[in-house]
Amino acid sequence: MSDEVMPQGLWTGDYYNEGAGRIDPFDTLREECGVFGVFGHAEAASLSYYGLHALQHRGEESAGICVAGGEDFNYHRSMGLVKEVFDRDKLASLKGDRSIGHVRYSTSGDSKLTNAQPLIFKYRDGDLAVATNGNIVNAPKIRRELEQSGSIFQTTSDTEVIAHLIARSSKDFVAAAKDALSQLVGGFAFLLLTNDKLIAASDPNGLRPLVMGRLGDAYLFSSETCAFEVVGAETIREIQPGEMLVLDRDGMHEERYAPAGRKALCAMEYIYFARPDSDMNGSNLHASRKRMGQVMAQESFVDADVVTGVPDSSISAAIGYAEQTRIPYEMGLIKNKYTGRTFIQPSQELREQGVKMKLSAVRKVVEGKRVVMIDDSIVRGTTSRRIVNLLREAGATEVHVRITSPPFKNPCFYGIDTPNRDELIASYKSIEEICQEIHADSLEFLSPKGLIQAVDGGNAGDYKGGLCMACFDNDYPTQTDFDGEEKFGCTC
Ligand code: SF4
Repeated sequence: MSDEVMPQGLWTGDYYNEGAGRIDPFDTLREECGVFGVFGHAEAASLSYYGLHALQHRGEESAGICVAGGEDFNYHRSMGLVKEVFDRDKLASLKGDRSIGHVRYSTSGDSKLTNAQPLIFKYRDGDLAVATNGNIVNAPKIRRELEQSGSIFQTTSDTEVIAHLIARSSKDFVAAAKDALSQLVGGFAFLLLTNDKLIAASDPNGLRPLVMGRLGDAYLFSSETCAFEVVGAETIREIQPGEMLVLDRDGMHEERYAPAGRKALCAMEYIYFARPDSDMNGSNLHASRKRMGQVMAQESFVDADVVTGVPDSSISAAIGYAEQTRIPYEMGLIKNKYTGRTFIQPSQELREQGVKMKLSAVRKVVEGKRVVMIDDSIVRGTTSRRIVNLLREAGATEVHVRITSPPFKNPCFYGIDTPNRDELIASYKSIEEICQEIHADSLEFLSPKGLIQAVDGGNAGDYKGGLCMACFDNDYPTQTDFDGEEKFGCTC
């Protein structure tokens, strides 16, 4: 295995097998990427470093920052966590007052430094850097057409198509970017940097989050507001579906490259991916998850002695469930944050060991108790079964599982790494069958209506509360097949 394909900052607790690639003993969904941009601050690289550090949960495989200041770009990208990729000297070498940065997770086949972002290009009008979060569903089709007409791609990342579309245009950069963005179908948040401009753009459905902030006179952009808190910036607003903000020495220009489609922010951002201290659509994520737990309790109460949440993402919902039911909330499960990297062969026995390395049941809390275990989703079912077993081995007399999302039945085409449809347990088993499979005493899922109610309080009036819920209801906000081909997951 060469250095280039060996992910040095492999997600802690994963197994890596040369033949099989990454194997996740937790059987969880993965966010694919996070982006952070700065326009007009002398410490652009340092701000990006701290911003990306706050977005580390969105991608742990590679990190990069590209800075514009002088005539040429300064940039550094590498495999690994943000703190491993950058040190004081590297940051000091990234001089300039405009930057875009990226953290990335990808499937193992794409674990190459050449795919680490920002992607950097030289073209007719100068330098271009591209950072994105999400997935362009029609990228394979566009790429095929571009290659047939002579384009030579440098990476296997489909993000590169936007650079080729811009480079082939005879229009000025802003018009070319508009034309390029309007050809893309999917869920994406783009940051584009040239020698004198920064563009921030969101897909026509606003599937992936992108928010603008201010720090003094500087403009900042981030996948999540938690990164603004870290650098002391103020959140201004979200980038709207189909919107494109252009920043140059004359200030910020609000443009639109496409009419806004049906608003459809990824529901899994609320349920699981985003940090609880982030806000989306004006709602704090911790508060939204607490409401999910409260609504869940109203929909499917079960009498028990303690409520516990699977750390970290389900703790807020477990607190909400406990508040609503008045059953005490307890830390029945503890996550070990210091498991280190485990480059070991994934035998079944070692996989089980891997789960125990990352998560433990607290015997003194659950022994002899009827436990309500709150989790955010069930993907293949193997993780849920292991966690239920952990609680039983620690002495729980009953384990009632409550999931704060509807059954996950369909793959994601918009940047979330999901298994094939036939590997998603809810696509081929009933709730009763899943309950048996995971060894639970009872199992209930949050209803779609309950999820919408918890996220926006039922006030927004948008179709489905302005959420994409396609992985639950198969109602995708965009076309998903091109030339008879469906490509889901992440290609950024
Ligand atoms: S399909 Fe599911 S995971 Fe993908 S964007 Fe829609 S809600 Fe999010």
